[in-house]
Amino acid sequence: MYCPYCRNPDSRVVDSRLADDGSAIRRRRQCPECGRRFSTVETTSLSVIKRSGAGEPFSRSKIINGVRKACQGRPVTEDDLALLAQEVEETVRASGVAEIDAHEVGLAILQPLRKLDQIAYLRFASVYQGFESLEDFEEAIDTLRRQAKDNERIPSGVQRPLTAQ
Ligand SMILES: [Zn+2]
Repeated sequence: MYCPYCRNPDSRVVDSRLADDGSAIRRRRQCPECGRRFSTVETTSLSVIKRSGAGEPFSRSKIINGVRKACQGRPVTEDDLALLAQEVEETVRASGVAEIDAHEVGLAILQPLRKLDQIAYLRFASVYQGFESLEDFEEAIDTLRRQAKDNERIPSGVQRPLTAQ
């Protein structure tokens, strides 16, 4: 790897430590040429398998672009989108697999998007889960209403039990 300051093709590791609960290694490197230090992060590569069977590297920007369309006209900031993509990546990496179905990535998006913006969630879910009728929307909205009620009943700070999708 080239030194980002002087492009020297060599560097020396001065420190390594586990990051993100052991799913990554962060290395502090020093350039022997200019003496400056920089960090690298090593993670397992994560492939997303598309419906065609082709794989491509997991990409946060792809998540963001997909969700951004559903968020048009909604009070959702770029920071919100970046955080959501980070949460999605943490969720799929936590499963510990090297390959993940594109469908699973979509499922991992639904949960944090529902918390972020309910309209964007409905838009995304309607495309992603292939809503075909008003009944599909009604069902999704009923689920949102039920969850809003559950949230009211349980005081904040208390862990909520996992509910079925
Ligand atoms: Zn250098």
